[in-house]
Amino acid sequence: MVSRDALHAELAARLDRFADVPDAVLCAVVTRDGLCFWVFDRAEMPELSGEPERDRALAAWLCAGCPVLDACLELELRTAGAESVGVWGGLAEDDRRAVHRAWAVRRAAGGRRVWKVRHPNRRPRGGEWE
Ligand code: SF4
Repeated sequence: MVSRDALHAELAARLDRFADVPDAVLCAVVTRDGLCFWVFDRAEMPELSGEPERDRALAAWLCAGCPVLDACLELELRTAGAESVGVWGGLAEDDRRAVHRAWAVRRAAGGRRVWKVRHPNRRPRGGEWE
């Protein structure tokens, strides 16, 4: 069985192909094609429970079939980084934070930016667009 660390590392490596994609392009693609931006309202997404397996299943279910899953994950890692909350990129926050650690190491090793940028189209839980 593959360990969770190995899965996180594999996901981080899969995002290498986005390293040169500008933030604005990623954001435009995700907000245009992401299921939660046109099929359903993110504000209606169920809250995470804090129980890892349950949240993992919920995130996978919510994002199933989304055509921009990896782009969404890349955007979230750039904009929220280790403080990422909620469901983005098919992952609940614990997994995404773990992917972020591997992602940041890979980007820093490649001389890439790893600091956060502002998500131009982001609604926090129960709030208005930031
Ligand atoms: S991967 Fe999930 S959170 Fe991201 S745009 Fe698609 S449905 Fe929304």
